Amino acid sequence: MNHILQFIPFGLVETPAHKGYEQSSPFTRPEGWRVHRGTFEEQRADLVKHLERAGYVRTEPVRKAMLAVHREEFVPTVVQQASYADHPLDIGHGQTISAPHMVAIMVEAMRAKEGQRVLEIGGGLGYHAAVMAHVVGEYGHVFAVERLEPLAERARANLEGAGLADRVTVLVGDGSCGWSEYAPYDRISVACAAPYVPEPMLMELADGGMLLVPVGGRYVQELTRITRVGTKFRKEGLGGCVFVPLVGKCGH
Ligand code: SAH
Repeated sequence: MNHILQFIPFGLVETPAHKGYEQSSPFTRPEGWRVHRGTFEEQRADLVKHLERAGYVRTEPVRKAMLAVHREEFVPTVVQQASYADHPLDIGHGQTISAPHMVAIMVEAMRAKEGQRVLEIGGGLGYHAAVMAHVVGEYGHVFAVERLEPLAERARANLEGAGLADRVTVLVGDGSCGWSEYAPYDRISVACAAPYVPEPMLMELADGGMLLVPVGGRYVQELTRITRVGTKFRKEGLGGCVFVPLVGKCGH
């Protein structure tokens, strides 16, 4: 757990790994804007290597999933050149797609297995859902809920382009209290910040299931993992993070 605590705070502001990365990084960074001149393919391979070295990518299924998903095909054209910079990108409507290291941290933390059913709240443009879809494989399924219709439509098109339309269902609406229609889920992953753990989501977890949700104020939250064992719930804090707010009935 400690290494996560060490790496997450405030988008990697002061960790030694980050400093090393900054000095040698071939990627664009907000403070340096050095541009990687390789193809997207090369940039993706380099980014995943970096994520492994820094300890964010720790297992083979997650490594393969991050290599399989073309981030440049999930982001708006205006920011496409920065697809493999390890920081969040603007996706319009006041929303952002999480930095690749945050996606890696979350996908590793949810410990999903092949064949599982995953609910994602905050589908955005579908990148994170695509990575999770690769982890759960062809017998698993991801239900991604997005409250903003234009983003959900783009997510559907992106996922179809990536050949994942039959593995990810994009739903439009308020998922702040979960989405009961397809429950129970083996994993629920929330990609936006909740003021408290949304209780109805706990009820939608299968036995042994896990909920991953950033909980806290509007500006900083703690990535929280809750594991259901029968009627009991075990809660763990995984470290600080910063997400856009979960808006809706059980959100802000
Ligand atoms: N995982 C996404 C990025 C998530 S950004 C990706 O990889 O592209 C967080 C998203 O949560 C935003 O698109 C925002 O519109 C959405 N969101 C916020 N509150 C929500 C709610 N109650 N239900 C569903 N989506 C919500």
